[in-house]
Amino acid sequence: MIRIRPHHLLCIRGFKGKGYSEDFVDNMRQVITELYTDPTCSVEITDGTDDICRACPKCSADGRCEDEEIVRRYDRNTVSVFNLRETNAGFCDIMEQIGRRLDQEHFDRVCADCRWREDCI
Ligand code: SF4
Ligand code: SF4
Repeated sequence: MIRIRPHHLLCIRGFKGKGYSEDFVDNMRQVITELYTDPTCSVEITDGTDDICRACPKCSADGRCEDEEIVRRYDRNTVSVFNLRETNAGFCDIMEQIGRRLDQEHFDRVCADCRWREDCI
């Protein structure tokens, strides 16, 4: 089981090998590989820090993001823009659902003020 917070589904989609640190990038690459290659891998959409956050230098020892308010807004907007409230689908179905609705307007509603924005477009 891999735990993913909602806005990280977009980050996974846009990942180009950049991130906060070498450990962060290695872990993110590992999580993404597992999600796309292991058909038995299930996903839990989580409220709070997840399996990508676990290697992030911004994640505190008590499991809180130092930008918690901002990333919670990203999470809320991801859920509402991509209609993820009711979903208990598998990872590939969720990504397909996001892909169907993803356009510039929807992307901006989640990611407008993210520092990585130019890398994810
Ligand atoms: S700890 Fe915060 S900045 Fe780091 S990956 Fe998680 S949500 Fe993003
Ligand atoms: S712009 Fe930021 S929040 Fe949006 S997908 Fe990229 S890294 Fe994630």
